[in-house]
Amino acid sequence: MKLIGASIIITCDNNFTIIKNGGILFDNKKIIKVGKFDDLKKDKLEEVQFYNSCVITPALINSHIHFEFSKNKSTLKYGSFGEWLNSIMDNRDNLMEDSQTYIKEAIKESMRSGVSCVGAISSRAIDLDLLSHSELKVMFFNEIMGTNKDYFDSIKDDFNERVKKSKLLEDINFKTAIALHSPYSLDIELAHYAIKKAIDNKMLVSTHFLESKEELTWLESSSGYFKTFFKHFFNKDNAKANYSKESFLELFKKCETLFVHCLYLNNDDWDKISKLKADIVSCPRSNRLLNNRYFNFLKAKDHKFPFIIATDGKSSNNSLNMLDEARCALFAYEKYNINNLAKEILLAMTKNPAKRLKFNNGIIERGKASDFAIFHIENVDSTEQIVLNFILQAREVKDLYINGKRIDIENY
Ligand SMILES: [Zn+2]
Repeated sequence: MKLIGASIIITCDNNFTIIKNGGILFDNKKIIKVGKFDDLKKDKLEEVQFYNSCVITPALINSHIHFEFSKNKSTLKYGSFGEWLNSIMDNRDNLMEDSQTYIKEAIKESMRSGVSCVGAISSRAIDLDLLSHSELKVMFFNEIMGTNKDYFDSIKDDFNERVKKSKLLEDINFKTAIALHSPYSLDIELAHYAIKKAIDNKMLVSTHFLESKEELTWLESSSGYFKTFFKHFFNKDNAKANYSKESFLELFKKCETLFVHCLYLNNDDWDKISKLKADIVSCPRSNRLLNNRYFNFLKAKDHKFPFIIATDGKSSNNSLNMLDEARCALFAYEKYNINNLAKEILLAMTKNPAKRLKFNNGIIERGKASDFAIFHIENVDSTEQIVLNFILQAREVKDLYINGKRIDIENY
């Protein structure tokens, strides 16, 4: 049994309990007791440590990230979704070169910001070995996309192969899931095929949905940017949208789903998604860079969606640091009381995504996994605005514990 403590523990439990001079008694499996540090001291502890001027939070969760695109720094174009997607198409292969080095660095970067758990979208399984061997808890979403019937057999084979491989690697820290890339990039036959697999194997599903105005126009009228996109990149003169918004959402009736982005929902779409077993993941910096807007957080609250934030991949972000993402969200929603928003944002990267990813983490309470992030915050003992100052000041973890083990991030 081990005991750690700090000036402040933010538990992220249902009452949002904050404990001053708090302590956590735990072993490698789970948290045994949470309370005042001095009350938890006892004999025969394997390790005892108190972190002065520090905050302990549940280790953070980044529920939507594409590790395969970790090489991008200044290659891709921002400011318009269409220009960005064109730049992805032109640079896709080059961005995947030397991927192992970049993915490894991306895993470290994630952990440095306090992340212990990820929802990783993988299109080619280039990241499979590194992620399954890492200390991270991983929901590994095998992604499927394709619109050209000539390739359907090989797309299915490749998809099956990746799902099979990742299923073989499953353990308490690694689970297999399925991602449907998006309504504009996936034929209905392939979508049904992947969804059936998800339902049969009870796997979580993720999909990008209504990320851009261009996608909305395409689904509503088979016109606009995507008309040129299919002509230019796929030589298709008469391409048409594979779905209406309604028929795409129908696909997810029988599975649990994470819809990602959802920047262009109308009232009807909100109603439809709220009737599914689904959450919405928002990626504030990515949305600002590609689409010049932020997710409608207040509307989501009206529909009882828990707020969840993630970084997306480096293909649409300047870092994978969840604390930077949190700060972006804090400044994005100027109409919301800043202290309340700070709390919502912390829950958006702990308790809220944990519910759907089901690794039994995201909250510091008895019985939960021993996954903690510790951050040094100067004078945190004396502030009344603890969570706000945590979000403003936290830069990098002092220590990160996953399954009760202190992670040696730099030597990973
Ligand atoms: Zn994404």
